[in-house]
Amino acid sequence: MAEVYRNYIDGKWVEAVSGATFESINPANKSEVLGVFPRSDHRDVEKAVEAAEAHFDRWRKTPAPKRAEIFYRAGEILVRRREELARLMTREMGKVLKESRGDIQEGIDMTYYIAGEGRRLLGETTPAELPNKFAMSIRIPLGVVAAITPWNFPIAIPTWKLVPALVAGNTVVFKPAEDTPLLATRLVEILIEAGLPGGVLNLVHGYGEEAGRPLVRHPDVALVSFTGSSEVGREVAVACAENYKRVSLEMGGKNAIIVMDDASLDLAVDGAIWGGFGTSGQRCTAASRLVVHKRVLKEFTEKFVNRAKALRLGDGLLETTDVGPVINEAQLNRIHGYTQIGIKEGAELLCGGGICREGECAKGFFYLPTAFAEVDSKMRIAQEEIFGPTVVIIPVDDLDEAIEVCNSTKYGLSSAIYTQDVNKAFIAMRDIYAGITYVNASTIGAEVHLPFGGVRQTGNGHREGGSTAIDIFTEWKTIYVDYSGRLQRATIDA
Ligand code: NAD
Repeated sequence: MAEVYRNYIDGKWVEAVSGATFESINPANKSEVLGVFPRSDHRDVEKAVEAAEAHFDRWRKTPAPKRAEIFYRAGEILVRRREELARLMTREMGKVLKESRGDIQEGIDMTYYIAGEGRRLLGETTPAELPNKFAMSIRIPLGVVAAITPWNFPIAIPTWKLVPALVAGNTVVFKPAEDTPLLATRLVEILIEAGLPGGVLNLVHGYGEEAGRPLVRHPDVALVSFTGSSEVGREVAVACAENYKRVSLEMGGKNAIIVMDDASLDLAVDGAIWGGFGTSGQRCTAASRLVVHKRVLKEFTEKFVNRAKALRLGDGLLETTDVGPVINEAQLNRIHGYTQIGIKEGAELLCGGGICREGECAKGFFYLPTAFAEVDSKMRIAQEEIFGPTVVIIPVDDLDEAIEVCNSTKYGLSSAIYTQDVNKAFIAMRDIYAGITYVNASTIGAEVHLPFGGVRQTGNGHREGGSTAIDIFTEWKTIYVDYSGRLQRATIDA
């Protein structure tokens, strides 16, 4: 019998008001149920927001360095439990063990990095224009933050939201993805063990439409921090606009690697394989488009396809596995649907293109690493986010065309160029319109102390990570102190 888990509201572990539940299953082995979780609705959300609201005043008045100490302790617990959590992550969402370890490590890095903000939360002091007057700006928390997260980075992405929101003095209602509720529960348990007071962080499990939607619309939520698809992100943004709420959106991507004719081809193939098929292509920063100079197209394609064909599918817990399953059946069918679209559009299927039902793969949701050649940049497979192990190869004549292709989707998260020519690298750095550009490295590999996010329909102008993460979770307040003892009129008496 699978263990039954609960929501965490106002410092207590509680069932959903409705008593309804849902299961978390292992995508590499659908018969393994990892746990049973409360299927919450608007009534649970209301209780959670009420608790977060009630605890806000006490929490915001707790000195920031004291708030932050809790997260140093949480970081230590994450370090201690890294291996256990990584194995659980592989069982809950499928990615291979070394990638799960990387996910936990990113959570540790973020937790330590932002804990340091407890002793910074920097504002500015600046001279005032009048005598005997002092001017400064400080950061203040907003209130109740709704944190809504996807399943592909079940520890890293929640830490990107929860830690800066809480260190800055906000209280939080956390609605994790319905595919990874167990990892979310473990993270909340760790924060409680580290000393986070009850009610400051509340956990509400459930489906997007039933729990996420009422959370976004709740009038006492001041800020929604959302990571997920652009379609849902748009709905979240519209709902927030209606209520004058701040909203930070991290959404989809259709990221490109440009391979120039002077590139080190083996290095570029390494980056393309890692970027295209790591996490079974289910990363917002996945390299799903390879934009390749025609002079090296044949050689690059041969090397890439040979490597793709050699990738071993299987349970991510096994050392012999290169590529794990995809998250669920709906996604498996969606990916396969895109293969049919690609074939209909006239692209040439080079490898993969099918659901793997052989051997152990029959137990789960496995899709063969897939590559298409003869792809035109306007095709749907070159424009739409598939979020699976499907990579398209688009030939180009020169750098100008490569950059034009790279910039031609509605997204703009990550990008990369492989070239040995410093001039071309700098042109790409300048002209690729995206939140992130790598030179001679794949589209994935963000470090937590730099801004992370994208342009166009990938984001709405905010950046998680870096000091910019704090900008999302705080409001600016400007303060003037006049110690002249008389009326001084700025812009008139100055
Ligand atoms: P999703 O949009 O389906 O779900 C994301 C979260 O939103 C889940 O918790 C879900 O329950 C919730 N949700 C769904 N409908 C909702 C609604 N109507 N109101 C409120 N909440 C709702 O995305 P997913 O399938 O979990 O994740 C994959 C997507 O996330 C991809 O598009 C990927 O590119 C994107 N992503 C982006 C980043 C980034 O930083 N830019 C990082 C990881 C994933």
